[in-house]
Amino acid sequence: MSIRIGIMGYGNLGRGVECAIKHNPDMELKAVFTRRDPGALSVLTEGVKVYSAEDAPSMKDEIDVLILCGGSATDLPEQTPRMAEYFNVVDSFDTHAKIPEHFEAVDRTASDHGYVAVISVGWDPGMFSLNRLYANAILPGGKDYTFWGKGVSQGHSDAVRRIPGVKDARQYTIPVESALEAVRSGSQPELSTRQKHTRECFVVAEEGADKEAIKEAIVTMPNYFADYDTAVHFISEEELLRDHAGIPHGGFVIRTGNTGMKDEHSHVIEYSLKLDSNPEFTSSVLAAYARAAYRLSREGAKGCKTVFDIAPAYLSPEDGAFLRKHML
Ligand code: NDP
Repeated sequence: MSIRIGIMGYGNLGRGVECAIKHNPDMELKAVFTRRDPGALSVLTEGVKVYSAEDAPSMKDEIDVLILCGGSATDLPEQTPRMAEYFNVVDSFDTHAKIPEHFEAVDRTASDHGYVAVISVGWDPGMFSLNRLYANAILPGGKDYTFWGKGVSQGHSDAVRRIPGVKDARQYTIPVESALEAVRSGSQPELSTRQKHTRECFVVAEEGADKEAIKEAIVTMPNYFADYDTAVHFISEEELLRDHAGIPHGGFVIRTGNTGMKDEHSHVIEYSLKLDSNPEFTSSVLAAYARAAYRLSREGAKGCKTVFDIAPAYLSPEDGAFLRKHML
């Protein structure tokens, strides 16, 4: 019997999970839930209906895992603990500083109601976190580096869009190649924010807007741009739609460290991602962890977990014998 998946929230991630299910034959999409008018939304999977988010609890016996696809800022802190009363759940909560309190809130309801919840699944947090942990355990005396990009940052794009005179904008975060090379050499450089990443903005200005003023507002914006070298390009709306419609992202997690009685041997561990579609990749990770949540739940587990708590074999559709023969 296939794993019956529900999707809560039909934005980028919601649509990405729908695609991921198509690539995982052991899963089937049972329902999509939204806070908007369900009648106004249609999904791509034939035979699957959109329901009001309010109706989700009444379908608790028809869904094995509910994948929460809301935003981290305000949706998930409320939705994940609430839905863990009725379902095994998986979310992509990515506000790093608030993960401990999110964990506590979700653990309380998931434990009380006997469900498995997996939070902060995706690539960062998620696959990057796992790779940081592995590398730290293996090279305890080393140094960590995380680089992001090249990719679109939604938060920075939104910040540019809020500047008066800006009609639309896309912001890319780009790792500095020479910094990457210095890290990969094993020399363990100290790198400032400015030395690690640059930022590049493509801006569509309103008719008659003062482009110099817009540029100045961008490059001096505290927290977002002031600490970086930022390039600003003004382009037409057509160019933005044609050349910048995608949501690519990625990055590098690197740890370098030494072994030997005199630290005479150096090692570089590197994990990198180059993603054409940030949401579709994130959703593919969510799907794999939904499988793990389902299996753990069938074994009687309950409570909140992160990627650190789940053994890799639970992610695979294959059984232990297959994995030992083909993947060890
Ligand atoms: P979206 O803004 O596309 O969707 C978030 C929610 O907003 C949806 O679930 C949907 O809920 C609602 N929504 C979507 N489109 C509309 C619309 N047109 N009008 C009104 N409401 C809409 O966010 P993403 O799917 O791109 O990302 C979700 C979260 O995933 C992000 O906040 C981010 O924190 C996290 N994330 C985590 C990653 C990781 O590596 N861990 C990587 C990438 C993202 P509803 O259907 O109920 O209205």
